[in-house]
Amino acid sequence: MPRFQRPTGTLDILPEEQSYWEHVRAHAIRLARRAGFERIDVPVFEATDLFARGIGAATDVVEKEMYTFNDKGGNSLTLRPEFTAGVVRAYIEHGMHVRPQPVKLYSIGPVFRYDRPQAGRYRQFHQLNLEILGTQDPAADLEIMLLVWDLYAGLGFRGLSFQLNSTGCPRCRPAYVELLKSYYHRHVDQICDDCRRRLETNPLRVLDCKAAQCQPVIEAAPPIGDHLCDECADHFAQLREYLDLLGKPYTLNHRLVRGLDYYTKTVFEVWAAGIGAQAAVCGGG
Ligand SMILES: [Zn+2]
Ligand SMILES: [Zn+2]
Repeated sequence: MPRFQRPTGTLDILPEEQSYWEHVRAHAIRLARRAGFERIDVPVFEATDLFARGIGAATDVVEKEMYTFNDKGGNSLTLRPEFTAGVVRAYIEHGMHVRPQPVKLYSIGPVFRYDRPQAGRYRQFHQLNLEILGTQDPAADLEIMLLVWDLYAGLGFRGLSFQLNSTGCPRCRPAYVELLKSYYHRHVDQICDDCRRRLETNPLRVLDCKAAQCQPVIEAAPPIGDHLCDECADHFAQLREYLDLLGKPYTLNHRLVRGLDYYTKTVFEVWAAGIGAQAAVCGGG
């Protein structure tokens, strides 16, 4: 056995694999550019605080999964666990709000999460990130959803469908979270230890718990769709109407939440058939 091996959860992309990799990347970039997205590259590391504030200090990503280090100047830096925080930082830092809105940006490159390695999950992995900044229009959600649909369809994935939810906004989400917490407190003896902890730190995440004992509790939990404010409900209805008009299959999934605090309103996943346990090929919102 060689003295050094690649770190757990990382991949070497060997010369004979490069053509596949290049095919996927070129396809993604072609679709993004055709849809009017411009490329932005942001640093691989940023101030730790940016992620703690942008993603949310109590999220799994920030609590457990970040590669954080002090540089020789004593600054706390973190390898990016996702793109959005850095892209939004750049949008503000460069005054991009004065450009014609919305601003549509794509990024592609490695991100880093100290996650439990498993099939299809790595500690350094590549993301295509799409952002539409400066609009609240549900058509912006639709645009990204259709783009990633074309991305996977063009790569030969079959049986595609969307999973769809709305996680509300700062006006309506807090009341729902309180409702969810009081429901869970009534079932606290049935749920796993992780959920007991999440209930205090990041309550929405109880809904995507994978533990068997939590499934009946999740099934009977109040769905957020019944507790949206008028604006969020209209936004969500409009998006569903677009999808109906386009004949794109979707399933409403009230368990679909995101681990990151900045998500508001729409969250979605693209599911593909016939690829095994990891049915979700992509997520966003
Ligand atoms: Zn709302
Ligand atoms: Zn649980």
